[in-house]
Amino acid sequence: MILIFLGPPGSGKGTQAKRLMSHRSWPQLSTGDMLRASISKGSALGMEAKKYMDQGHLVPDLVVVGMIAERIQEPDCRSGFILDGFPRTLPQAKSLDVMLAARNLSVDVVVEFQIKDSELLGRLSGRRTCSKCGTLYHIHTSPPQVSGICDVCGSDVIQRADDQESVIQKRLKVYHELTAPLVRFYSEQGKLRAIDASVSMAAVDVSVHDALGIA
Ligand code: AMP
Repeated sequence: MILIFLGPPGSGKGTQAKRLMSHRSWPQLSTGDMLRASISKGSALGMEAKKYMDQGHLVPDLVVVGMIAERIQEPDCRSGFILDGFPRTLPQAKSLDVMLAARNLSVDVVVEFQIKDSELLGRLSGRRTCSKCGTLYHIHTSPPQVSGICDVCGSDVIQRADDQESVIQKRLKVYHELTAPLVRFYSEQGKLRAIDASVSMAAVDVSVHDALGIA
């Protein structure tokens, strides 16, 4: 099963990918997480990517396509995977089709997380992230038990540079201009399943399972 979770930043696709990963043997492949890991390591790729990310711009297609091409060759991807945050442009989507076709594979289902920008602003500006394990919190709806400290690993909980309000606006603009056209691309292939992502996490979970036709 090769799945794509498509949606604007803050729509909950990463959370749902993690939930699904814990029930199935499909790893979550998040290009955002991979890029942040490269930044933490201080690699040249990470430092270059950071310049784009901190400003809400997309990292060049070649960089992320290369990362995914390598990652899907790992043994844990053999029975399928969930792409979270990739593809984000039409050239990325077309490159993905080519790299999958070379292995006699293709995308099975694209779940589109639908939610209004006004809702996303509140979600993203209140979002906090563990600097080490990536666990997500929200200052109002799900704060850590001890302020600033991750419940899971005890590391610092921070606000991502790109979750600041001015950058959020930019990321949403980029989503509508460059990523939203993928809705049509996958709809024309008959692979798109749209779900309402503005409801509770449990309700979204049910919609995701329905969209995938799994229990
Ligand atoms: P995310 O964690 O998915 O919201 O990604 C954070 C940032 O990483 C994005 O705003 C982009 O700058 C960069 N990024 C992640 N995935 C991609 C991608 N597929 N293409 C280009 N840039 C990406």
